[in-house]
Amino acid sequence: MIEQTLILIKPDGVQKQLIGEIIRRFEKSNLKICALKMIWPDRELAEKHYPLDEEWARLLLEKAKKAAEIENRQLGYSDHLEFGKNIQEKLVKYLTESPVIAIAIKGPNAVSCVREIIGLTEPFRAHPETIRGKFAPEESYKIAEEENRSLRNLLHASDSIENAEREIFMWFQKHEIHEY
Ligand code: GDP
Ligand code: MG
Repeated sequence: MIEQTLILIKPDGVQKQLIGEIIRRFEKSNLKICALKMIWPDRELAEKHYPLDEEWARLLLEKAKKAAEIENRQLGYSDHLEFGKNIQEKLVKYLTESPVIAIAIKGPNAVSCVREIIGLTEPFRAHPETIRGKFAPEESYKIAEEENRSLRNLLHASDSIENAEREIFMWFQKHEIHEY
């Protein structure tokens, strides 16, 4: 199925001068870039992008718990909404620290294809051929928790067709998305 999805090269990806490398990965796939721009998000846009959604918070806590268990660490959170609020605050700080690149991409199964190209949320566990695994291999939940900051994993990509639709129109106006 032809889908559209939203990618953000987060502030660390731009700071590390990885824009070209990252865009190249998507151009090499059979997906088509249909919108692209640099934007310095304010708090309002960052909060809108990462709303405190119940299901998102549940999954967020699940992933963090699993990683903590494997490493024999205490996570210190059991309530997903409390955890979600804490991570959302860190994410807003992260996303507003410097400009990001917003990209809308279209193609067959674009949502899952892009998630595969970027790799797992925790770069330390992402496959070395994925963007996160190759360009941020040392970054982990453990380090992020110790430093009391968001996990820095270079990119965001929509996780469902519904979220992609919502996110694309948060970052782009209709006339900025091109058909060619
Ligand atoms: P993604 O879809 O792979 O980006 O991951 P999620 O939607 O689960 O989380 C959104 C973002 O929040 C991630 O990309 C990280 O930047 C950050 N994040 C997620 N989980 C944690 C966590 O347990 N600790 C910290 N510090 N940051 C997290
Ligand atoms: Mg996500």
